[in-house]
Amino acid sequence: MESLSITEFSPSAPSPISSSSSPDEETDRDIVAKDIEQDVEPQGKVLLHIFNNRHLRLKDNTALYQAMAQNPDKFYAVYIFDGFDSKPVAPVRWQFLIDCLEDLKEQLNGFGLELYCFRGETIDVLATLVQAWKVKLLSINMDPDVNFTFFNEKIVKMCTINAVQLYNDMDSHRLLYLPPKYKSAIPMSKFRVLLAEAITAKQNNLESEAKIQDITPPLNPEQLSDLGNKPRLDSPLPSEIPKLNALFTEEEIAKLNFIFQGGERRTEDYLNEYREARLRDVSGDEDASPIAAKAMGISPHLRFGCITPRHLFNFLVKTIKDANYSRIKINKVLAGIMARDFALQVSQLQTIPERIISLNKICLPIPWDKNNNEIVEKLTDAQTGFPFFDAAITQLKTEGYVINEVSEALATFVTNSLLWVSWEEGQNFFSQHLICFDLAMSTHSWLEASGSTMVTGRQKSYQDPLLFVSKKLDPNGEYIKRYLPKFINFPIEFIHKPGNASLEAQQAANCVIDIDYPKPLFEYECRNGICCKRLRVFMEVVDSAAKATKLPHVIENCSGKFP
Ligand SMILES: Cc1cc2nc3c(=O)[nH]c(=O)nc-3n(C[C@H](O)[C@H](O)[C@H](O)COP(=O)(O)OP(=O)(O)OC[C@H]3O[C@@H](n4cnc5c(N)ncnc54)[C@H](O)[C@@H]3O)c2cc1C
Repeated sequence: MESLSITEFSPSAPSPISSSSSPDEETDRDIVAKDIEQDVEPQGKVLLHIFNNRHLRLKDNTALYQAMAQNPDKFYAVYIFDGFDSKPVAPVRWQFLIDCLEDLKEQLNGFGLELYCFRGETIDVLATLVQAWKVKLLSINMDPDVNFTFFNEKIVKMCTINAVQLYNDMDSHRLLYLPPKYKSAIPMSKFRVLLAEAITAKQNNLESEAKIQDITPPLNPEQLSDLGNKPRLDSPLPSEIPKLNALFTEEEIAKLNFIFQGGERRTEDYLNEYREARLRDVSGDEDASPIAAKAMGISPHLRFGCITPRHLFNFLVKTIKDANYSRIKINKVLAGIMARDFALQVSQLQTIPERIISLNKICLPIPWDKNNNEIVEKLTDAQTGFPFFDAAITQLKTEGYVINEVSEALATFVTNSLLWVSWEEGQNFFSQHLICFDLAMSTHSWLEASGSTMVTGRQKSYQDPLLFVSKKLDPNGEYIKRYLPKFINFPIEFIHKPGNASLEAQQAANCVIDIDYPKPLFEYECRNGICCKRLRVFMEVVDSAAKATKLPHVIENCSGKFP
């Protein structure tokens, strides 16, 4: 079954939430059956809201707001750990989710309400709850990604069968609200024009074809408190929000640096800091490294829906406008949110030839090296012998985050510029460690950085990532020293290519190559040259195939000749 994105979470150690029941234990179905037997009193209008991993907030929650407008008599807030054991996920991501759930629980408790957590397949759990609690209204912010279509249809069907009124909002995870005529197909160029028009219109209170929606009004606290005072039915098989130390060993946790704290209220507190960091970044010296200026991002908060992109957009536009910043600067600050929306929108388009779909059936079939487990292992162990990229891997593994420029450089290094490892391998690693991992955005970004798509151009394909990081991102080696402390005393002029330092200098710095730090996997210039040539040859084949057919993706099976 396709399931909610919570399938991405799973512990590496046994979970504290008991999942299986022995033959003697009551199952959820037994409990439902008992309730029905007992002929429970009519419950009035019962509302169940499902929080999922894209919408862990109370504010600007359109589906919940609309359902609350029906004046329910009882309210149950639910979160379901679905596919709990399906895939290993790093503790920093887990902790972010736990923070978000605890924050929601605390907020609800403040109204006398509860956040009920369950474990199991979402549809099964929901069907059980709908019957046990006699639910009449169900609200959810469904995921519009094509991969969720099947799952969403099941929810609709379940509601129909049980005569439940469904309140669903599919648009609040993105910024741009497209008119229905564009919903299934829109060329990328048109999307960009519509987005730019919508942003200008929103900034100046004008009309536009596609829209950035207004923020949904806040929930009524009196209504919530009133619902909190109502008696409720017991919850079948309730679960606790797990603690990290029940999911991972102390040793695993000790290696980490939890720089991000999840939760709607923490996101709110963090907004000013985020805006200041962005303004520093766009106002600073053109040549300054974005690593120091950006410090921390907002992508984990957006990913888990602690804030909607339109809320963030409004906050940034208003505060920056009040401070009279130029249009160019405002657009620079907003560039990330625009790129995000484009990637998410692309993942929903199904009917145009130049599309990418998020599970990537269509991309340029660059013949990446196979049987390269040793290289992949060295990469994921941060042992490539290229300090900047090993530092980036270390940051990802310990903090679950790297800024976009570092992601891009790393993705290029992994794929078309040096290691010639497939982008899927890289994505797999990101999926475990990046707190903000999102299949659609990740696929889009990996395709682009590896030169595997023609949809957004190939300008980044022929790169020299080491030159870029040593000149632009980390000229003084500060990033390397932060994440690889063994380089703390290394001479700066050699820090990006430490093997070039004399043995005496290496010894003086207590970091001898091939003893304290590995030799590079490849001789950089030579390998980079080979990779660039491979890519150029491949692209020539693609170009001639594209010219012949006028449809770039038709070259799916072409095979280039490689040096
Ligand atoms: C190979 C690769 C994989 C990536 N995988 C993911 C992913 O799984 N999930 C994810 O959220 N982002 C992904 N990104 C985009 C981006 O790197 C991260 O969102 C970034 O770390 C955001 O940092 P920030 O919050 O400081 O961004 P800001 O610059 O402050 O931008 C604000 C928001 O816009 C979005 N954004 C910023 N840059 C981009 C971009 N280039 N493309 C799309 N959206 C962007 C993010 O949601 C971000 O939080 C990936 C980028 C690359 C190159």
